[in-house]
Amino acid sequence: MSIRENLLNIKATIPSHVTLVAVSKTKPVSDLIQAYEAGQRVFGENKIQEMTEKWEVMPKDIEWHMIGHIQSNKVKYMAPYVSLVHGVDSLKLLEEINKQAQKNNRIINCLLQLHIAEEETKFGLNEMELEDLLQSDIFKNLKNIKIVGLMGMATFTENQAQIKKEFQYLKTIFDNNQQPITHNRQLTTLSMGMSGDYQLAIECGSTMVRIGSSIFGGR
Ligand SMILES: *Cc1c(COP(=O)(O)O)cnc(C)c1O
Repeated sequence: MSIRENLLNIKATIPSHVTLVAVSKTKPVSDLIQAYEAGQRVFGENKIQEMTEKWEVMPKDIEWHMIGHIQSNKVKYMAPYVSLVHGVDSLKLLEEINKQAQKNNRIINCLLQLHIAEEETKFGLNEMELEDLLQSDIFKNLKNIKIVGLMGMATFTENQAQIKKEFQYLKTIFDNNQQPITHNRQLTTLSMGMSGDYQLAIECGSTMVRIGSSIFGGR
């Protein structure tokens, strides 16, 4: 099936309150253009350099989401244009994003990544680290970032019950952190679900799914 057909089929299964991020990492610009021509305007990449190269040549009405692990020294390259940074997992990184956003006269929307999987290898904060970050005076004084939600990745497993438990856990953390709403904190977005588990994620309360291989094919 074509990229267009894949995209339209997936869109048909996603409720209107859920945002589809088309994960185009490693794929050539010609593939992204096919998705764009089928109406897609939100793209996710996991490397800042690759995303920036694509941003330079693609139409300018696209929202670019950084979904991967971020190196602080590269933040400056995406700061002029990035729409949403999904993988923020430390106060230090948030300070760097704030600094680069300020240089560009912008407020950059961010999601805090929570570690919900069993695998040690996956990135993210635990619940206590999340509390510490949100309670810190340094965070409260950042003016050029806004935390608009949470992101997480479930364990890579066939075990649906396990995945469901992890999504439900993230949803609970999301619900428990709705207050307070401040100038730089308002949790409205819950980014969870990929090609293999997005339907389950939506059942568990996801408002944003990140789908790559089911749209663009395997990598
Ligand atoms: C690659 C990636 C995805 C998309 O994965 P698929 O299984 O291809 O849909 C989603 N989220 C993150 C963080 C990724 O790195």
